[in-house]
Amino acid sequence: MRYPKLRELKEAIISLFTIPYTTKFPKGDFKPVAGYRGKPVVDEDNCVGCETCANVCPSGAITFTDDVEKKIRIIERNYGQCIFCGKCEEHCITQKGVKLSDELYELTVFDRSQLIETQERELLLCANCGAVITTKDHMKFIHAKLGPKAYSSILNLNILNERLRLASREETSVKVIDDLKRKDMFNILCPNCNRKIQVKNLL
Ligand code: SF4
Ligand code: SF4
Repeated sequence: MRYPKLRELKEAIISLFTIPYTTKFPKGDFKPVAGYRGKPVVDEDNCVGCETCANVCPSGAITFTDDVEKKIRIIERNYGQCIFCGKCEEHCITQKGVKLSDELYELTVFDRSQLIETQERELLLCANCGAVITTKDHMKFIHAKLGPKAYSSILNLNILNERLRLASREETSVKVIDDLKRKDMFNILCPNCNRKIQVKNLL
């Protein structure tokens, strides 16, 4: 029993003459070590709103809501739920959409709602059923990535036409009325509606 007490006394004396392990935050500067994983920071120019980071986020800190009426996707990042695992950065399809910073201690707030950030991206909707295809920025990213191969799909050809304005929207976009017909292929359609036209024409 005597030896443990002596050891504790020795440690107490040593600690009196050594510098503390703790930081002086918020009075002193916090110097992050190399590879420190702090608050994820979004790069607005390189985030295309694809949903990948929300699908891999283990804590559910990233959520997406599609407002079909307004044609926007709202991306919500709640840093109060973030566990700084880095999965969003690792799996980001553009590799630049989100990066973990060395900010962490600055996340101390009295009101947790201050830790929520939102972004908005314009949606691409099916002209027939109104289903969400993806965001326009996501589609542009796919085009840039695939190059000419992207135009092997009719959907991409229609989007290319829209971008290059080879024909006016009125000329190519025919309002889908009664039922899907072959002419409707030249509208921007979701994969399900496109498949319905193809299968119908095969029968
Ligand atoms: S994976 Fe990247 S590009 Fe896609 S929504 Fe997340 S941050 Fe944006
Ligand atoms: S660091 Fe991890 S927990 Fe935080 S937002 Fe990214 S994936 Fe989610």
